Amino acid sequence: MSAHRIYLKKPLDRHLRAGHPWIYADALTRPKSLSTGSVVEVVSADGRSIGFGLYDARSPIAVRMYTLDPNVSIDDAFVRSRIEEALLARRGAIDMQTTSAFRWVNGEGDFLPGVVVDLYREVAVVRFDGEAVRVLRDAVVAAVVELGRPLGVVHLYERSRGGRGQVLYGGAPPSPVEISEHGVRFAVDVLAGQKTGFFLDQRENRRLLRRWSRGAEVANLFSYTGGFSVQAALGGARRVTTVDSAPGAIEGAKINFVLNDLDPALHEFACEDGFGWLARARDAGRQFDLVVIDPPSFAPSEKSLHRALGAYRDLNALALSVVKEGALLATASCSSHVTMEDFLAALRDAGDKARRRLRVLEVRGQPPDHPSPPAFAEGRYLKFVLLRAA
Ligand code: SAH
Repeated sequence: MSAHRIYLKKPLDRHLRAGHPWIYADALTRPKSLSTGSVVEVVSADGRSIGFGLYDARSPIAVRMYTLDPNVSIDDAFVRSRIEEALLARRGAIDMQTTSAFRWVNGEGDFLPGVVVDLYREVAVVRFDGEAVRVLRDAVVAAVVELGRPLGVVHLYERSRGGRGQVLYGGAPPSPVEISEHGVRFAVDVLAGQKTGFFLDQRENRRLLRRWSRGAEVANLFSYTGGFSVQAALGGARRVTTVDSAPGAIEGAKINFVLNDLDPALHEFACEDGFGWLARARDAGRQFDLVVIDPPSFAPSEKSLHRALGAYRDLNALALSVVKEGALLATASCSSHVTMEDFLAALRDAGDKARRRLRVLEVRGQPPDHPSPPAFAEGRYLKFVLLRAA
């Protein structure tokens, strides 16, 4: 493959060969004039070729690696084969009889860095992380349309961070799209909902919650459109309280109750700040059998890690104050810079602060349609822990 050679300043060879797909700008000598999206050959300080990636002139992640094989070109056929392999890998991961929404392509975890494709029944939603990968856009569109046809995919829509969405194929998609997740129905707003419309990564944890909900008084904080709430109500919860600060999320949660023949009037919904709600519930002496907290990321960068761990400790201690003696807290972190070990330490500190003795019942992460290479810890961003609090 003909490509501009780019030289490492730091000894990252082993790291990259082991499958870590990112090279930060400070680890290499930036070429003077090389445009974003160029294919680069990454060369170690001692002159040995390591592999090929795409260059980004402005991002802190200067190169994302696509292949270590010198005989492979990053072209349309390459993109197609990665997307096809990703689809084959979803066969065992997803029960397509009962689940019609899943992550088809998980970027780095499917060896196609920066490309995320989520499937919501007949609508595929794509997101490109970083500018460089946009050079693969046409190839991604062609592959998703072709390989999606047998799956019934007729719309391809692009969501970008902050920006507006864009139709890439098949005209404007229907919104909401009604999907099935383990047989549970959810309405997904692919045009304006958060992320690509739904938090597919909590699918198996939502299902787990159902088993623990029989007869329980449940509070679900940072609920989005009530995924955990609906599963809890279907699992026989006596009453479910759903709290999120986004009005669209709470409206969506009510719709999702109705879609599953649950009467929203028998439950409680609050469009409110989660921290404020918890503090008021504590002061009012409210107590629950099961509290779920799934906040947005507290650690957008490595630098904010220390502060983030303190925030997880404090939020979880606050949540524990409304958990009945001997009852359950299900708590999640989606910060990629927080490891499971860090998170468990923050939970230990939360128990200490709240003066509760905690026991870990379940330690879980993201489902198999969100894979990651072992060398890429950042890829295992989702942590989910079920605790019993004495
Ligand atoms: N558990 C959800 C996903 C939660 S995502 C699911 O299964 O689908 C995090 C949610 O937190 C988002 O819906 C966001 O609107 C909400 N959020 C962010 N900041 C918040 C705050 N301060 N108080 C309450 N909700 C908040």
